[in-house]
Amino acid sequence: MASLLLENIAKSYGTVEVLKNIDLDIQQGELIVFVGPSGCGKSTLLRMIAGLETITAGDLYIDGTRMNDVPPSKRGIAMVFQSYALYPHMTVYDNMAFALKVAKMDKAQIDERVRNAAKILQLDPYLDRLPKALSGGQRQRVAIGRSIVRDPKVYLFDEPLSNLDAALRVDTRIEIAQLKERMPERTMIYVTHDQVEAMTLASRIVVLNNKTHTVAQFGSPLELYQRPENTFVAQFIGSPKMNLLPGTIRAGDAGHTGVDVAAGGVAEVPVSAANASEGERVQLGVRPEDFVVAREGDPVIFEGTASYTEKLGEVTVVYFDARDGEDPVIAKIPGIADVSKGTHLRLTAAPDKLHLFDTDGHSYFYK
Ligand code: ADP
Ligand code: MG
Repeated sequence: MASLLLENIAKSYGTVEVLKNIDLDIQQGELIVFVGPSGCGKSTLLRMIAGLETITAGDLYIDGTRMNDVPPSKRGIAMVFQSYALYPHMTVYDNMAFALKVAKMDKAQIDERVRNAAKILQLDPYLDRLPKALSGGQRQRVAIGRSIVRDPKVYLFDEPLSNLDAALRVDTRIEIAQLKERMPERTMIYVTHDQVEAMTLASRIVVLNNKTHTVAQFGSPLELYQRPENTFVAQFIGSPKMNLLPGTIRAGDAGHTGVDVAAGGVAEVPVSAANASEGERVQLGVRPEDFVVAREGDPVIFEGTASYTEKLGEVTVVYFDARDGEDPVIAKIPGIADVSKGTHLRLTAAPDKLHLFDTDGHSYFYK
């Protein structure tokens, strides 16, 4: 029902640049998540799409029509904010019907739309209740219902769950995923700073970099996890974040590259050495969950002494002494491992789990 095209979009407030070079091609029916650290411009980008913020440069198209100068009410979008205010003296039904009444829609049509939205959101039993008689999650659903009744082409959500407590966030996140399944043809853009929300909801994720003000990567959740294009994405997606181990290129051939790891031995990375030259300084990326305790004969990628451990039952998180100016290396070992402060460990990882970045943070897999 609606595709979106953003071409070279930029936003500045006076001389302060917030976003630049934003190119996104969003297909109808996608659930796109904008994610990134606080202040990276997620809300600003969403508000430009909604028409609540002017676009400094570049073009925005919805269904092929340029929208830069089209007022918000004519763009076919509906926005759900983090802080939604329901009318406290109106029932759930009237809260959802309100905007349609103001627009002088026919009563029977309003009724049909409200009941349809209530069904999608499983709010049918609560239509006669006042907001104060609802839970936080139910209220949030009413807020979403107010946008559904307007039958927009594009739904925009700006951190809709951030006011909910942890348990309710999980429930509501699942509800939003199910809501999307019930409206497969609708395009949704969802802003969050929570990478778990991004990973679980998105068809594709846009990671925004708060240092460069550009898109760090645009891809499916698993593409970002398995093949991050740069260290920004590598360390933003996944928790604890990916380890970056300094090393140098040793040798290699068309299929793989040998890396001398400063804190370990040699790692063979399955990327063509044609992209790298011998002696070049690099960063070997290994996710904490991809480290495995090395057995006799395994190549040792990292070797160190545990400075701190967390035994969480399902997993043991091991922190190693940090080398000068570097982050501590972290390993996640499944189950309850026999490791404590002072334990010396030698770790390895499967070659297909390794990542390799240059000193500027660009992945060799994309060179
Ligand atoms: P996010 O939603 O990713 O946390 P925002 O889009 O709200 O970030 O803000 C991005 C940047 O733009 C921030 O540095 C913020 O201070 C700045 N900003 C947002 N709105 C304005 C404004 N009206 N005037 C000046 N700067 C603004
Ligand atoms: Mg925001």
